[in-house]
Amino acid sequence: MYIPGIANLSGEAADNMLATLKSEYEQFRSQGLKLDMQRGRPCVEQLDISSEMLDWGGAPYLCEDGNDMRNYGGGIEGTPEARGLVADILGVKRENVIVWGNSSLNIMYDLITKAMLFGVYGSETSWLEQARESGEKLKFICPCPGYDRHFFITETLGFEMINVPMLADGPDVGAIERLVASDAMIKGIWNTPKYQNPTGITYSDSVVRALAALKPKAPDFRIFWDDAYIAHDLYDDTDALLNLLTEAAKYGNEDMVYIFASTSKITFAGAGITALAASVNNVKFIAKQLSVQAICPDKINQLRHARFIKDTAGLKSIMKKHAAIIRPKFELVLKILQDEFRDNGYCGDTADICAWTNPRGGYFISLDAPDNCAREALRLAAEAGVRFTPAGATYPYGVDPQDRNIRIAPTVPALGEIDTAIRVLALCIKIAYLSKFASRRV
Ligand code: PMP
Repeated sequence: MYIPGIANLSGEAADNMLATLKSEYEQFRSQGLKLDMQRGRPCVEQLDISSEMLDWGGAPYLCEDGNDMRNYGGGIEGTPEARGLVADILGVKRENVIVWGNSSLNIMYDLITKAMLFGVYGSETSWLEQARESGEKLKFICPCPGYDRHFFITETLGFEMINVPMLADGPDVGAIERLVASDAMIKGIWNTPKYQNPTGITYSDSVVRALAALKPKAPDFRIFWDDAYIAHDLYDDTDALLNLLTEAAKYGNEDMVYIFASTSKITFAGAGITALAASVNNVKFIAKQLSVQAICPDKINQLRHARFIKDTAGLKSIMKKHAAIIRPKFELVLKILQDEFRDNGYCGDTADICAWTNPRGGYFISLDAPDNCAREALRLAAEAGVRFTPAGATYPYGVDPQDRNIRIAPTVPALGEIDTAIRVLALCIKIAYLSKFASRRV
């Protein structure tokens, strides 16, 4: 229910409205709902798009380079077919690519721990050694709201995380430029540049160029560029993202860039192929380290993916099928938010009490509730049986300084469930807001 002028309600009118909302809430609570809008996973219908891969007999068994996929052998950088596919998708050359494992997060974690132990290409003093010598902590820049699992990695590995605000076209580059220029212990920055998790925004050309041109004090600084949603368009008219590796090369910065890709949300989540794209120097350096960790990659999964996806045209046709399934879910969330709050546009003029993003791809919608209301609203929603990603999760250390950001992941639930879940969320936000307001008056 839309409440005209909720932001200006006062006195008895506010109390009466709160009582009405609470009785509506009790009706939801008595239904024993069990709805989960927490994580960005593909739904079963999306997984079915790629199920034919499971019936794959595999023959012919030979990779392009003559290696039998069932045996050891082949370059640690991945099969030629899979490297070619990833290169095609990311717009880089095959020699810029290492196809590696089933989880891009694992590659990110691995590259950071490697840097902590051995340094990086061009600067082989370990990050830990530098921290020990300087007596300072290692630091990482975290544009936020951002992806909680990125933040878990740098938190777990003991980095001090520095918040930088996400704006409508990417992170605040002015703040990033100042930070990296002044502190050699800042070793990296997290990014999900296309259809960002959770805002769904895509970095503008000027933001990509500014990041490509950074002049960090640390010679071993790296941009972690997680292209998890590079192909995940909801509409034919897609967001365009500049190629960071190409842009960085223009400034002699190509070694500063690590790009990550994953088919976790193209084929099978957790059973896809994942990759690093980087300068040839980085690729050679990292491949040498990898060859100590493993004899060869999982060529079977790489080959199976390369044969299934084929090329960028094949990828587009798969992603169109995904979009047809999940686009109505995104549109339903947005429609209900519009019904409930009559506001739109990310952090624009708030005619009402909330603002939210209107993504053209990816897996999430980001909602900003009124300040100091997200935690309470999500607590109320959970009590009524509707779970969202915990408040604060989109910020380092799980602390949203304004306690307002809520990540909505609409891909898994059915439309009817989304309808209920978002209406409950809207109701809980209004209750949290009016309760705070009422308590201020007392
Ligand atoms: N990066 C981002 C930005 C994601 O949203 C996700 C999945 N939620 C991942 C990485 C996970 O990818 P993978 O399964 O390849 O580790």
